Amino acid sequence: MLLMTPGPTPVPEFIRQAMSGKSIHHRTPEFEEIFMRVRIALKTLLSADEVILLASTGTGAMEAAITHFCRKRALTINAGKFGERLTKIAKAYGKNPLELRYAWDTPPTVEAVRKALTENPDIDAIAFQICESAGGLRLPAEAIAAEAKRIRPDIFVIADAITAMGVEPIETENIDALIGGSQKAFMLPPGLAILALSRQATALLDADGGVGFYFNLATELKNQRKDTTAWTATTTIIQGLDAMLTHIATLGAERFYADTQKRHEAGLEALQAIGLLIYPKAPARSMLTVYHEEAAALRKWMKNRAGVNAAGGQDDLKDKLIRINNMGLVEPMEIAWSINALELALDIAGARVFDGTGSKIFSKIYYR
Ligand SMILES: *Cc1c(COP(=O)(O)O)cnc(C)c1O
Repeated sequence: MLLMTPGPTPVPEFIRQAMSGKSIHHRTPEFEEIFMRVRIALKTLLSADEVILLASTGTGAMEAAITHFCRKRALTINAGKFGERLTKIAKAYGKNPLELRYAWDTPPTVEAVRKALTENPDIDAIAFQICESAGGLRLPAEAIAAEAKRIRPDIFVIADAITAMGVEPIETENIDALIGGSQKAFMLPPGLAILALSRQATALLDADGGVGFYFNLATELKNQRKDTTAWTATTTIIQGLDAMLTHIATLGAERFYADTQKRHEAGLEALQAIGLLIYPKAPARSMLTVYHEEAAALRKWMKNRAGVNAAGGQDDLKDKLIRINNMGLVEPMEIAWSINALELALDIAGARVFDGTGSKIFSKIYYR
């Protein structure tokens, strides 16, 4: 079965091998050397002042970012399931969130953010996705971050980049906390969260000692600056991350991102060529997202007959979307085969006669 869901993504053979050695203890020079290498590579890749690794899934880092960098009131952007989660976290911690809500295919506007910040001087943090995975939507994250800082220079900008980190270069100049997770573009097992921090963010942590206990970012930062973790590190996943970051550096980050972009462009064209509707108005490169009334039946056929496990939607769109992963080291042939399977499914559903247009267009554009 081809795992083509936009997280968890399949773990490549070289990463599985990097994680298959004897267990190492986290309080050893051997692990500290790996940990140091990984943090340096992440800081370089993400242009960040500091990087903290947490033993949790991405949501843990979302929660830690809100508890630490929002002390009064949060402005959240909800353009899908994960934006909704930011609002829920802010509510859970009494941050009285002001939520800007959008249809899942619609990018938020900079104007709405400007208005919300101008009218609400009590807002001290803004949180949003870079890619909202619910609808495969790319938000104008850089423009929103820049506008927020222009209006309120000391605001904290929290960006959930869980399906953007390792997908495309991210402009982090105006972002204070950039969140990533292991099971997306880095193609690792779930269980490791990444937080890239700005100088403004580390200054706050150094000044006030952080919030809470397990997810106390000041405690973590103090330890991680010394190449160790506050609690037991997820040693195995970090060994895998070391292998992935070495792979990206060897390939060149630009090439890694360019390959993702090329697969995405070819995929979008191919899907439209077989009459499918691209769901998001601003498609993120992390996945290929199509809307179809019969999406559930098409997906079932892809899975049972062609061995392709693509994701559906969530909530009201559960049976209306098909989401095909494009993060990490997905092979062009895997995308081509997934599109081929979808075209075959359309034939069976009586929507369109199969003629191989999907994979033909994909190959033509990808290898152009
Ligand atoms: C996967 C994902 C998350 C994190 O979910 P976890 O299950 O906690 O790893 C958060 N935001 C986005 C946009 C995601 O795609």
